[in-house]
Amino acid sequence: MKLKTAKIIVLSGFALIFICIILSAATKLDLFAYIGIGIAAADLIFWVIFGRCPECHKFIRRSSSKICPNCGKKIEWK
Ligand SMILES: [Zn+2]
Repeated sequence: MKLKTAKIIVLSGFALIFICIILSAATKLDLFAYIGIGIAAADLIFWVIFGRCPECHKFIRRSSSKICPNCGKKIEWK
């Protein structure tokens, strides 16, 4: 999977978490909070799996990194 695609999916996950927080607050239902936590966990796991340097395949941690913290290669987000 391309890094850009992974990043878009992770950001979409954040948007979903945000929606769940709002729904949880608006409806006072814990269910939405649990869904939000579930998405957050899935999002984190997804990023750990796919948020990797194309060169050395090490985890790059932040989705805003311009260079790989492990090998120093420039990361293409296109
Ligand atoms: Zn690297």
